[in-house]
Amino acid sequence: MIRRGQMNNPFSSKIYHFLWSSIDLIFPPHCAGCDLLGYRWCSTCDSKVHPISLPICDKCGSPKHKSKSIDDQCSTYLESIEYIRSYSIYEEPLSTAIKKLKYQRNVGIAETLAFYFVELYNNINQDVDIIIPVPLSSKRFRDRGYNQSSLIAKPFSLAIGRPMKTQALFRHKETKSQVGLSREQRSENVADSFIADKSQVLGKTIVLIDDVTTTGSTLEACAKALKKEGAKTIVGLTLARAVSTKYGFSDFISNQVTTKT
Ligand SMILES: [Zn+2]
Repeated sequence: MIRRGQMNNPFSSKIYHFLWSSIDLIFPPHCAGCDLLGYRWCSTCDSKVHPISLPICDKCGSPKHKSKSIDDQCSTYLESIEYIRSYSIYEEPLSTAIKKLKYQRNVGIAETLAFYFVELYNNINQDVDIIIPVPLSSKRFRDRGYNQSSLIAKPFSLAIGRPMKTQALFRHKETKSQVGLSREQRSENVADSFIADKSQVLGKTIVLIDDVTTTGSTLEACAKALKKEGAKTIVGLTLARAVSTKYGFSDFISNQVTTKT
């Protein structure tokens, strides 16, 4: 459907796309946004996904905070990660597509959603050595059977011609759901949950991939573990940014936003 932002588009990326298209011929998909038969993601749903417009917070990538003090907090709080950028706000129909990918085994949508990452990546002008999807704990991985972030990161890595490393970062602690937690509580909840493999990350510029970010605490915890093992620069890219419109954009009142890993 959407074919925006194709970059190097090496041969392997075309093969990967061909494989998924072949599956579509055998099992015609339903649009992950509106259920329309015959599409994984229809053009109407695609047209409803808007990139986050400027101005944004330089650090966390959310629509500019209402108060300057929150921008300052971002720089203090997100110290290991260079910056975070998200393609869009977490809202319909993208939020439905993400939920279907995570909780309803609609794995085909991941390849389509990866093209939003390619477009996002094109816009940030950041060189990268390796791509690492945010890992799930082994328990959650067993329960779900797949890591949704890896499913998005794979076609993205093929499209930009950089390797994806799923064994470079591990989540060794099962954390409780982040839903309803404040920024501080979220940060505490995921602190020290990750361990990186020095042999794979030393001196590397890394793009971390996740589906949704709220306060950035998970990406920051990942970046901290990577930095500890000598990674050079870490940036975080996510599909969607969960913000609360009730209290003003992105002022980190996370109780209103129901995202979990
Ligand atoms: Zn649709």
